[in-house]
Amino acid sequence: MTATQTCTYRLGEFHPFEAGGRQFLYLVPAGAIFEMDPSAAAVLSLLSEGAATHEELIGKLTQRDFAYHDATELVQELFRARVIVATDSIQEPLEAPPSDFPLQSLVMNLTNQCNLSCQYCYEFGDDKVATPEGKPKFMDMATAKASVDFLLEQSSGRKAVHITFFGGETLMNFPLLEQVVKYASRRAAEQGRQIDFSLTTNGTLLTPAIIEFLSQNRVGVTVSMDGPPDLQDKLRVFANGKGSYDIIAPRVKALIQNHRTRPITARVTLTKGVTDVVRIFRHLKDDLGFHEVGFAPVTTSPDRLYAIGERGMDGVLEEFHILADEYLEYALRGEMHGFSNVSDTIAELYQGVNKSHPCGAALGLMGVGPSGDIAPCHRFVDSDTHSLGNIATGVDRAKQADFLNRGHINNKYDCRTCWARPLCAGGCHHEAFVRYGDTGHPNLHYCDWIRDWTDTCLRIFGAISAQNPEFLEKFAERKALN
Ligand code: SF4
Ligand code: SF4
Repeated sequence: MTATQTCTYRLGEFHPFEAGGRQFLYLVPAGAIFEMDPSAAAVLSLLSEGAATHEELIGKLTQRDFAYHDATELVQELFRARVIVATDSIQEPLEAPPSDFPLQSLVMNLTNQCNLSCQYCYEFGDDKVATPEGKPKFMDMATAKASVDFLLEQSSGRKAVHITFFGGETLMNFPLLEQVVKYASRRAAEQGRQIDFSLTTNGTLLTPAIIEFLSQNRVGVTVSMDGPPDLQDKLRVFANGKGSYDIIAPRVKALIQNHRTRPITARVTLTKGVTDVVRIFRHLKDDLGFHEVGFAPVTTSPDRLYAIGERGMDGVLEEFHILADEYLEYALRGEMHGFSNVSDTIAELYQGVNKSHPCGAALGLMGVGPSGDIAPCHRFVDSDTHSLGNIATGVDRAKQADFLNRGHINNKYDCRTCWARPLCAGGCHHEAFVRYGDTGHPNLHYCDWIRDWTDTCLRIFGAISAQNPEFLEKFAERKALN
């Protein structure tokens, strides 16, 4: 793209931010970060007064002591980077990924049964989308093998693939998990490919033997846990209402001590009254020893008792900012802090992510339930309304295309002018369905929150890139946790 003498210029679409004493622009159509210098700032200042022709812009720059050649080069460079654009340019739609986009990750829900009765659970609670009635409660080996084969077939062209084990409570079907790890490792090795594994668990069923198996096989572990006893036991309870902290804490400590091959992560669900982010982080990181802790507000209709209201979310943001400041201090010393919500966004910024869809659901990622039904992701498993086919019969490509079409950023009218869209892309499809009854609806209830948090992460990224750029190399391979 070249600027020409006949162009009339205006400012491009960007979000300016300051970090580490430097000025940056987040270039929205490219999802890229541009560091401003005084020359670029001069052009932006001129165009902020209104559009200018090529001749006018060069003329004003030469009046500001730019040599004609330097002014022309500068305008060309800013035009190529899309910091400035032609007034008649239109927003180019973001291309959809190809229809044969290869699978990379399969989430296998080994069971839809759980030994806890967490009141906010999206699988069993008031907002559930699953319809498991009459379907198998536990996946069997035939379905599991077919699922692994499906992943290897549908991911052709990719050297490395990933399986995440999920539930219900995943470890209620640990014997199957063991067999799947062995079978999938053998099948991948036969094809000269790599496969790795992770699981999510509530931690209640961890035993020394299970921990040893997970460590030996490099299975990454995320524990769903909400914090110290008073917070964990509010909603993460057994069927008789008894809290789960006392059962889980010693098992988690043993896991962290004895699982030597992968970092162990805690995933916290924030609900009304469980929003003390800093206190929760300190307990899980410092007292129990988790390597990383990530937080997500509960997915629910706004009128549920455990829903976090707007004021509650403002409080969460304030606490996020405290941890974000700490994160930056750690990063400037070259140390990982452990707050996953920052790391996940930094990774996306470092990798220059510019999303057509909010996540990999139905794209590079799919879920499969105990019955073999295929879903866009683990949260839609066992839902008749959202099924995308079955392992035995394959993916229903028309349903998949419909899901992806509705979730595409180009079809979310409200997001078109939002500077945060390269990273947000409208937010989680499952949350959109729970809130708006449509997986393709943008999650408009938290836009201000998302933009504030994205701006915070941009500032952290900018400060690190200015003061300790080598630290960012840690994020080349990182994938966000969902
Ligand atoms: S959902 Fe809101 S924050 Fe996200 S891209 Fe759309 S408008 Fe922006
Ligand atoms: S963001 Fe939502 S839709 Fe996407 S994978 Fe996660 S839970 Fe599923």
